[in-house]
Amino acid sequence: MRIDLHTHTVCSDGTQSPAELVAEAAERGIDVLGLTDHDTTAGWEEALAAAERHGLRLVPGIEISTTRAGAGYHLLGYGQDPADPALVAELERARSSRRGRAQAIVQRVGRDFPVSWADVLAQTPAGATIGRPHIADALVAKGCFPHRDAAFETVLHTGSPYYVRHYAPDVGDAVELVLAAGGVPVLAHPRAARQCNRFGPQLLAELVDRGLVGLEVDHPEHDVHQRRELRGLAAGHGLIMTGASDYHGAGKTTRLGAELTAPRQWRRLAALLTAGDGR
Ligand code: AMP
Ligand code: FE
Ligand code: FE
Ligand code: ZN
Repeated sequence: MRIDLHTHTVCSDGTQSPAELVAEAAERGIDVLGLTDHDTTAGWEEALAAAERHGLRLVPGIEISTTRAGAGYHLLGYGQDPADPALVAELERARSSRRGRAQAIVQRVGRDFPVSWADVLAQTPAGATIGRPHIADALVAKGCFPHRDAAFETVLHTGSPYYVRHYAPDVGDAVELVLAAGGVPVLAHPRAARQCNRFGPQLLAELVDRGLVGLEVDHPEHDVHQRRELRGLAAGHGLIMTGASDYHGAGKTTRLGAELTAPRQWRRLAALLTAGDGR
């Protein structure tokens, strides 16, 4: 069984349509695919239909950008009711804030680089959750950088003078929102270097207390030491340990299926996917 529970499409900052992503997953022999676009469930319907055609199990999910004390955390939610009013309202608020924030970043970057809001819109598929990757794509299209990664390292990283934050719910509140919507909350890549978070045993204990169910342990941005640490923390709380590629199509170098979830861990998660739309 090949289980990859964290991927992106053009509905956020990936480069493939949901149907294209599912087709590639089928080609690569993935049996269970989690679709987790940033702050949106817009790709679910197309992905579920494609998964049915290809005979693979699609786990509809989301990756919610959240905060705590100025730091950022990504929360995965699986199988929640996509129409849950409280969750929908928070996601709409976040996506609308992301738009103004992207304009603010472009205004700052535009002082030093030849990039305009129109250039960024040209790189943003209709309806997509807009983020820094689309600004990066515009900078690449303008010839300022060779690829997304270089644009991030130079101008778009969180410590950059061009950086502007957007509205995001508190990480603990987000755990409760996902649960209340019938979903399964899993904390994404807690040790990813780019994220500037302050993840540790104390925050984890609070999140578990509020209903966190799993921890993403095997992730391209985690080294062996971090994986060992996270395994220990997850085991200490009886959490499900997931593994996933965080695939972004051509937007990042990681390939689909590069990291996987163990079948035993997947079965634990699957048993919880009963509410909402989590088939
Ligand atoms: P945002 O949601 O606007 O804050 O942008 C964060 C997103 O940018 C993350 O979800 C990543 O997918 C992407 N990202 C962050 N760092 C890099 C990088 N160095 N290269 C490519 N994509 C990145
Ligand atoms: Fe992303
Ligand atoms: Fe993430
Ligand atoms: Zn992701």
